[in-house]
Formats: sequence, C-alpha cells, structure tokens
Amino acid sequence: MKCPVCKTETLVLVDLADNLPANQCTNCRGIWVSSNQYLAWVRLQPAPLPEKPITTPIDPKWDTHTLKLCPEDGHIMARYKIFPNLKFYLDRCRHCNGIWFDNYEWDVLVSHNMQDKVNQFFTKPWQEKMRAQEVSERMDKIYLEKFGADDYDKIKEIRSWLKSKPQQSMLLAYLQADDPYKI
Ligand SMILES: [Zn+2]
Ligand SMILES: [Zn+2]
Repeated sequence: MKCPVCKTETLVLVDLADNLPANQCTNCRGIWVSSNQYLAWVRLQPAPLPEKPITTPIDPKWDTHTLKLCPEDGHIMARYKIFPNLKFYLDRCRHCNGIWFDNYEWDVLVSHNMQDKVNQFFTKPWQEKMRAQEVSERMDKIYLEKFGADDYDKIKEIRSWLKSKPQQSMLLAYLQADDPYKI
C-alpha cells in the first residue's frame, strides 16, 4: 500500500483506537482508514460522543493539498471541507469510501469528540449545513460593516420584536408608509 502523499510503500499497520486498525505512513504520519473498519468501529461505540466545540487553532499547514490516489484501489480521492470557515479538509475515496487523515487531523477530531462522526462529514446534509453557516457568517459581516454595530444591534432587536407579533405585516406597513395617517 502506497502513502497517497509520499507515494511510497511506507504505510504500516497501527491501532488508531481500540478495535480500529488503520495504516499510518512512517514518513508523513498520515493515516489511512478503510470504510468498513471505520463503520464497524463506530457500531461498537455504546453511544454517540458528546460533541465539543472546535476551539484549538488548526494549522492550515497540516493539510497536504496534493492530488491523492486511494492506497487501496488507486482512484483519485475527493477533498472535503468539514467545518465552516476553517481550513480543515479530509480526503475520501468515493470508490471504496476509505478516508485519509493528514498528520494531526485525527487528533483534532478526537479532541473535539468528533472521531465517531466522520461518516457524516461527507453527506449532503452535513456539507449543506456547513455551506449555509459560511454564507450566514459572511452576510453577518456585511451587515455589520454596512450598518455599524449600534444600528445593526438595533435593527436585529426590531426584527425579532416584529417577528414575535401576530400583526407584524400591519406594523411593517405602518413603518414603511410615508404617512400612515393618510388613506
Ligand atoms: Zn506519507
Ligand atoms: Zn478507494
């Protein structure tokens, strides 16, 4: 088995966790996990781990942004962004669903109790939620810049007050009318 980064036969068998065999490169320390072994390990877990937020900095240098070939079947691996606004990417073979972790990437997931959720990362709902959050954060920045902090806070307050009222369309019409006392 060749390391997808070093392109050499440097993968050796390791235990990534109890009952989770994997192959680690002795050179770049990257880790290859087959889909079947990963899913079997997830099934052995008594309950989903309570997720902890990502607070530790992620070094973008950990990511090896090179074209990777699956060590098992030679197919080109796909690169997935995993968390909104973080330069954290995982590589996955769409043919055998095996996963490649560059050095430290598995450790990041472990420190945030996300190592049992890896199969969710590549699903449409996860990817769509991640993109939606990125868009939302971008819009938030734009509004803050355009309105200024005080007005932005004020308009958010008015918006949530308006949303809580059953007669919100009338309130809005009152606000928008040039002269609400004219018919
Ligand atoms: Zn390597
Ligand atoms: Zn593969």
